[in-house]
Amino acid sequence: MAGLEDLYREIILDHYRSPRNRGELPVPPARKLEGFNPLCGDEIVLYLDVDDSTGTVSDLRIGGQGCSISQASSSMMGAAVRGKTVAEARQLIRAFKALMSIHESRLEGDGDGDDLAAELQGVKLGDLEALQGVVKFPVRIKCATLAWNTLAQGLDDDQLQSA
Ligand code: ZN
Repeated sequence: MAGLEDLYREIILDHYRSPRNRGELPVPPARKLEGFNPLCGDEIVLYLDVDDSTGTVSDLRIGGQGCSISQASSSMMGAAVRGKTVAEARQLIRAFKALMSIHESRLEGDGDGDDLAAELQGVKLGDLEALQGVVKFPVRIKCATLAWNTLAQGLDDDQLQSA
């Protein structure tokens, strides 16, 4: 399906050229998190503002630099989780990582990824589906998941602090 791959490439390039939610937030109240993918040299600086009274990701900003996959993925992540509840953000993290690993496990021939597919049930990935082409290049999966791992770390820190 060349048509679909072209569409996916367009979406990725659009986010790479016009990244969403670029910038910084004052720390505190925002939390600053940094992620690094040594395999490719991608860096992400994530400013995360979680409103504890409503349990939502009230704002976030993204900085850093790296390859088109890492930058597009962080832009898509920001657009997807901004304004969402922490629970919804976690669900998106799981769904996105499942999207990446389903293909990974199929490539490696161990299982058909049914458990992972369950994580995707009822989750709207939207533009994020454009990144599934990345799994054909396993070394690039870490580029795509960098922003998500950094976000997960930020949400975990948040729970520790409010516990
Ligand atoms: Zn990369």
